[in-house]
Amino acid sequence: MTNLRDYYRRNFLYSSHRLYLPQGKERALRTCSECVFFINIVGRTEKRKGCAAMIPKFAGAVKRIPEQVDVVEVLREIGQVGLQECLSCCGKDLSACGFFQPRRD
Ligand code: SF4
Repeated sequence: MTNLRDYYRRNFLYSSHRLYLPQGKERALRTCSECVFFINIVGRTEKRKGCAAMIPKFAGAVKRIPEQVDVVEVLREIGQVGLQECLSCCGKDLSACGFFQPRRD
């Protein structure tokens, strides 16, 4: 009979119950807070974190992505529903998505 404990210890694909494709491992281990698209969206009374990858103007990452963007500019670009998605799709401790780009600090 095989030793199950040893089987899992020696199986390098079995890591925390997750399987990573070799090219996807970096993204899976990073969080939104390390992403260049994770910016401040500044309103009249509050400032919240959002994802600039949802805004077409910044999605290509051709231009430099600013640290903060005014909420009026976001509303003009993607509308109210887009703004809600932009604010809810990311989080400081959430795993990075497929659009992840590391910060160039
Ligand atoms: S949701 Fe994706 S693109 Fe947006 S901040 Fe997070 S990792 Fe970056």
